[in-house]
Amino acid sequence: MSKNTINILGVEVDSITFRDALDKAEQLVKSQGTSMIFTPNPEIIMCAKDDAEMRNILNSADLCTADGIGVVYASKILKKPVPERVAGFDLVCALLERMAKSGDGVFLFGAKPGVAEAAKAKMEEKYPGINIAGCNDGYFKPEDEPQIVEKINSSGAKLLLVCLGAPKQEKWIAKYREKLNVNLCMGVGGTLDVFAGTAKRAPKIFIKLNLEWAYRFLKNPSRIGRFAALPKFVIEVVKFRKKKAKSDK
Ligand code: UDP
Repeated sequence: MSKNTINILGVEVDSITFRDALDKAEQLVKSQGTSMIFTPNPEIIMCAKDDAEMRNILNSADLCTADGIGVVYASKILKKPVPERVAGFDLVCALLERMAKSGDGVFLFGAKPGVAEAAKAKMEEKYPGINIAGCNDGYFKPEDEPQIVEKINSSGAKLLLVCLGAPKQEKWIAKYREKLNVNLCMGVGGTLDVFAGTAKRAPKIFIKLNLEWAYRFLKNPSRIGRFAALPKFVIEVVKFRKKKAKSDK
C-alpha cells in the first residue's frame, strides 16, 4: 500500500481512515521489527515545527494519524483533506479489542504511580481475554531507563503504549527503539489516565460535534495556555499554505 501523506508544517501526517489505520496497527503488532505510531494534535505539530529532532521522529513513524479536529481542519486549509480524525485513544481501544482475541501481550508505560495498574484493571474488564503483560509509571530517573527497557522486554509484550506526554514519549520511543523487543510502540499521551478514570474523555455528543477541545477547556480552564496554541496553529498553517503556493509556482 503506497503511503498517502499530507505535509502540515513539516510533519507528514497520514491521510487514512480509522479502519485502515486500525488494520495497519494490527498488522504492525504482528510484524517483527519495532514499528512506531504517533497521533499528532495541533500542539504536537507546533512543537515539531520548532524542534527538528521531534519532526524527524514523527516523520520516521510507520503511521502518523490526525488526532484532533484542528489537524483535520489544517488538512482542509492545505487543500488535501484527510478522510477523518484518527484519535490515539480510539485507535488504542479498537486495537485492544482485536488483541483480546489474539492474546498478544500489551505493556502500559506512563502516567502517575498506580494509574497504569488501574488502567490495566479497566482494560481487563472491558476487553475480556486481553493480556496486559506489565506496567510501569512514567515518573522515573534517567538512570532507571535501562531497567524499564529490560522490564518491557522480559514481559514478552508485542505492543507498548507509551504515555509520557509529548514530546517526551516520542523521544523516549525513538531513543530505545533499537533496544526494545516489542513489535509496535505507540505514543498515546493521556490514554492511561482516561482508562483509569483520572481524566475523562468528553461525552460522545461533544466528540460528534467536534467540540472535544471545548469540553476539555470547560473541565480544566487552567489549560488555557494549551488552547491558545490552536489559533496560532491555524495562522501558521495559512502562512505555510501561502509559502507552499509560492514555491510551487
Ligand atoms: N507523564 C508522565 N511522565 C512525565 C510527564 C507526564 O508519565 O514525566 C504523563 C502524565 O501523568 C499523563 C501523560 O503523561 O498521564 C500525558 O499527559 P497530557 O495531559 O500532557 O497528555 P496529552 O494531552 O498529551 O494526551
